[in-house]
Amino acid sequence: MGVALRTRWPWVCRDQPLRPWVNMAPPMDKRVNHCFMAGFRMRLGNGEGSSLWLDNWLPDGGPLSARFPVLFSFVHCKSRTVAEGLRDNAWVKDIRGGLSIQAYLDFFALWDLLSSIQLEPEVADTAVWWPAKNGTFSVKSAYYLLFAGRTRCLLGKIIWKSRAPERCKFFMFCAMKNACLTADNLQRRGWHLAPICHLCSKDIESCTHIFLNCAFSREVWGLVRGRIGFLHAVPDDDLPTWWCAARKVVTKRERKTFDAGVILVTWLIWKERNARVFDGRASSPACLFATIKDEWETWLAAGLIPPP
Ligand SMILES: [Zn+2]
Repeated sequence: MGVALRTRWPWVCRDQPLRPWVNMAPPMDKRVNHCFMAGFRMRLGNGEGSSLWLDNWLPDGGPLSARFPVLFSFVHCKSRTVAEGLRDNAWVKDIRGGLSIQAYLDFFALWDLLSSIQLEPEVADTAVWWPAKNGTFSVKSAYYLLFAGRTRCLLGKIIWKSRAPERCKFFMFCAMKNACLTADNLQRRGWHLAPICHLCSKDIESCTHIFLNCAFSREVWGLVRGRIGFLHAVPDDDLPTWWCAARKVVTKRERKTFDAGVILVTWLIWKERNARVFDGRASSPACLFATIKDEWETWLAAGLIPPP
């Protein structure tokens, strides 16, 4: 509730910018800032009250700084208003330095975007709090906003209680929430790259594909299954469902070890994908299986996994 209450202050500062105490505003902490930025919009009129790069004023949402983060890193003057920026395309002068390819792509996309913006000189910009129906901030709406994106990861408990190292648990948590930076997720963030899976070079790369449906990964899972005599089928269409069912046939004592094994295989498949993308190195399923065995031995030696 404290965060929702404190979000009122930045809101009032933007909604009533001419009040004398506005400059006395205490510094915002990160959580208040995130809550405020998530609910705050500027409804564009003449563009004189909205920050070009930092305010959320685009009709389809998102400040330019978040929408074009690479280009934004080259922006020198971040305080320009929308009106100033659009006048004779002055925003172009804000960008300094030798641009990267991605920054050029951002630049051209932004050029198209800003070319379509029409200002209304007679109308002032207005602050809008979109979670509230009347567009005005209320603590209640901020409170609901704080919990709006909360989702439960069914496997969260299993992952965090497994015997795998912390970095692998964190990776697995992201993988189960479909949050790894696979080609489909990068495209959604505006990156322009070939969406083809680097492991099989056949299908579109996504978390589900890489860890489940990919022919390469299925071969690796098959090798793991064959060598340890594990009778459960290779993961099919849904890794969380398979995982929940598979661990039930393992004795309770060995479940945390089994969970660590699932995490290890998934993690090393992901590392293999990254080695192909970033280092140009590719291993066969048999080589990757050997790496999995070596890593498992290391976990055993480190005491993470109890000896069989
Ligand atoms: Zn594939």
